[in-house]
Amino acid sequence: MILLVHIIFGTAVGSLFNNPILGIMMALLSHYFLDLFPHIEYPIDNLKNIRTNFKKALPELFYLFIDFALGVLFIFIFTNKSLIFFIYALISIAPDFLTVLSAILPNKILKIHDIFHRKYIHFLRDKKISNFYRISIQIVIVIISFIILK
Ligand SMILES: [Zn+2]
Repeated sequence: MILLVHIIFGTAVGSLFNNPILGIMMALLSHYFLDLFPHIEYPIDNLKNIRTNFKKALPELFYLFIDFALGVLFIFIFTNKSLIFFIYALISIAPDFLTVLSAILPNKILKIHDIFHRKYIHFLRDKKISNFYRISIQIVIVIISFIILK
């Protein structure tokens, strides 16, 4: 799922908790929870080969950057800008960061996380599910997040 949706939902979920440690844990879990739903995302396949073909991965790095920047903008506009919301935002996209890191610096622990994240959590990725549903679900998640944050 795109970073922006993860950031919006993760921040909303975190905001439900008075205890920031609990909020951080739930923001992290919110990432895996959202990835369970069938969704579409922009291509990031070339990021896997970023070490051998940096140039080809550049457009994808650019999408990631824009996606992330929109998330930060969201926090600035729709929260009281306290530090904890930025922490929730970062934590809510940490699993995707670890997956990118695993492509840049492959190692055993990151590999285990990668299999859990990309294979088991994204188990519906290749199922025949319409793009209409895959996009609608992300819109619904954003609406729910706004209701929580209100
Ligand atoms: Zn993910």
